[in-house]
Amino acid sequence: MTQENVNILILGSGPAGYTAAIYAARAGMNPVLYHGAQPGGQLTITNDVENYPGYPDGVRGPEMMIDFQKQAERFGTDVRIGMATSVDFNTYPRKVVIDESHVVSANAVIIATGASAKWLGLPSEQRLNGRGVSACAVCDGFFFRNQEVAVVGGGDTACEEASYLSKLCKKVYMIVRKNEFRASLIMQKRVLNSANIEVLWNSETLEILGEDEVEGVKLHNNETKTTSTLAIQGFFVAIGHQPNTGIFKDFLNLDDSGYIQTVPGTTLTNTEGVFAAGDAQDNVYRQAVTAAGTGCMAALDAEKFIAEKELAVVS
Ligand code: NDP
Repeated sequence: MTQENVNILILGSGPAGYTAAIYAARAGMNPVLYHGAQPGGQLTITNDVENYPGYPDGVRGPEMMIDFQKQAERFGTDVRIGMATSVDFNTYPRKVVIDESHVVSANAVIIATGASAKWLGLPSEQRLNGRGVSACAVCDGFFFRNQEVAVVGGGDTACEEASYLSKLCKKVYMIVRKNEFRASLIMQKRVLNSANIEVLWNSETLEILGEDEVEGVKLHNNETKTTSTLAIQGFFVAIGHQPNTGIFKDFLNLDDSGYIQTVPGTTLTNTEGVFAAGDAQDNVYRQAVTAAGTGCMAALDAEKFIAEKELAVVS
């Protein structure tokens, strides 16, 4: 293993990570940022972002993240490709292993590792992943132009995915396990007013059908207790997200869903010198702008911590 010492180490390259980097770099804190598994984070798999202040005409997610990176680099952030594979927060400086081969010791660590899409956990879902099964309509919807598809889930994400697909596909079924949506009213209305979206209430997916590609789905209606099959070519899973925090579980307090617990109103974790920002610690708001806000807070908290400890800034 190779080894190096850094001042502030930032894990993750979504709005939280890059905002932390911009603030830390401008404060002369020499941040080093590792991209993680999905460079640019979840916004790179979304289409238009219309609710980020400062973009009156909206902006494409991937383009916005390139702008974030450029802004972080402009002030001297060392942006690197690599993924944190384990940590040791029992020692100080805090240690993070990158790609199982490089140990980074840091005066302060900012965790901004975000969250990833959840899957149903069916063997057929795994087998047909990339062959008609997807968790991203914006990435893969194009392949199903004029075809019939299904979206599973009843939250805002599912409604957004269904709405997006309804403009490309002949027909979109929404598979909702309860007899109500969890989504916000505005998103519910958008879906219910779409002529080619049909909601299948009280429905659970038993199996996705097809050998080499998706041909249909087998459903169970939990009200009528009946089973049915639906012919579709694309199956989109939109049932929420889970935080990317597995490697921290032995060192940080996580809630029942795996989100990092922070001291309210701050980004401090239960471990000194380790701060958390963005979706990895936010089970409620999960927005780009709130992630960026907590990224800023993490950089300021880390800077204060380093100043109070009177640590020399590692260059
Ligand atoms: P949510 O947790 O809000 O919703 C998940 C949905 O998936 C629920 O309907 C849930 O059903 C269903 N579900 C969960 N597990 C399963 C399963 N195993 N089988 C079948 N269905 C399942 O997640 P979202 O990703 O939709 O939203 C997350 C957050 O992001 C929310 O706060 C949301 O408001 C926000 N968001 C906002 C957007 C916007 O404003 N444009 C866009 C996208 C997200 P049940 O209700 O039965 O538990």
